[in-house]
Amino acid sequence: MKKWQCGVCGYIHDGEQAPAACPKCGAAMEKFTEVPVEKSELIDRSRKTNQIYMELSALLEQVKELSEIGRDDELDPACVALFKKAIGYTVELQQAIKAELATHMGKGKWG
Ligand SMILES: [Zn+2]
Repeated sequence: MKKWQCGVCGYIHDGEQAPAACPKCGAAMEKFTEVPVEKSELIDRSRKTNQIYMELSALLEQVKELSEIGRDDELDPACVALFKKAIGYTVELQQAIKAELATHMGKGKWG
């Protein structure tokens, strides 16, 4: 599908033609330019990857919360250590995902 980018705010619109006005900043249709096919395909792939990252991050949040419950239950030292390790991994992965998403935004791999 064709994509159009707002020259004022960068909003990406999917459609056969540009919208009458930018849904984000209100700029007129004339401010939109058609996104080249190659960039459009990159945006589609980036959307998919970014969506995976966001779902992964939500799952990691569940892992962290479960691990905190396990840690606080303190069944025995080995369990507490394992749950603390799991919490550490999830926090690191979530931070790495945020950094990667920020990189995507900086490179325009977002839309
Ligand atoms: Zn706009």
